[in-house]
Amino acid sequence: MARTPLMAGNWKMNLDHLEAIALVQKLAWALKDAKHDYSEVEVAVIPPFTSIRSVQTLVDGEKLELKYGAQDVSVHEKGAYTGEIAPRMLAKLGCTFAICGHSERRLYHAENDWVVGEKARAAIAHGITPIVCVGENLAIRREGRQVERVLIQVDGIFNTSTPEQARATVIAYEPIWAIGTGEVATPADAQEVCGAIRGRLAELYDQDVADSIRILYGGSVKASNVAAIMSEPDVDGALVGGASLDPEEFSAIVRYQQHLSA
Ligand code: PEP
Repeated sequence: MARTPLMAGNWKMNLDHLEAIALVQKLAWALKDAKHDYSEVEVAVIPPFTSIRSVQTLVDGEKLELKYGAQDVSVHEKGAYTGEIAPRMLAKLGCTFAICGHSERRLYHAENDWVVGEKARAAIAHGITPIVCVGENLAIRREGRQVERVLIQVDGIFNTSTPEQARATVIAYEPIWAIGTGEVATPADAQEVCGAIRGRLAELYDQDVADSIRILYGGSVKASNVAAIMSEPDVDGALVGGASLDPEEFSAIVRYQQHLSA
């Protein structure tokens, strides 16, 4: 089954709304110059909440094919949840994606697999595609238990998800030891876990559902290493942190197919 690759840039807590506009303009120009075909590789930016409205205005005004999303979403619909952002609010801003359960949210905000699954289902209920993050820490990797750990996370997140909700989800495998460290997993490391995730989805649902779900790799992805990772059969894109703040570098990541044919 053909899955359209997705390259998503997680800006984390970087760029105010003016800087966000400048980056999106530069990225859009770089991709236009390169005649990028968005139907071949989908491209998304994930700015902080405060920049989403500005990105929306630019994307709509310039009719850009770039998609955008949020770095988190509330499980709640509305009400007394100070600091939370409801999925309905993100849908109103035209968000296509919401990251759920990034390792930094799990670490600093104590999010667990159940909460991540609830966030994903809340997003889907409002037409937003969740990008749910899973990944093992360095100690687990050293013990060789990465597949076991990640499959526990997948089970917890998809616990009550229907096949339709599963189909509406993107998964990002992000080994924590590779995030922001410059330490990138080898293509074989990425394939081992992404393949195991797809296998577990086939057990939880069926092969057709498993084959329809995009599984991204994330962790120190750059233009120089993305092509090798993307050539693995169960890797359908990348969640990119640091390198997505550089429009030239991110546009080169998006155009990884040119590195393959070069
Ligand atoms: C991330 O934040 O999801 C990430 C993968 O970061 P980096 O690319 O900087 O490792």
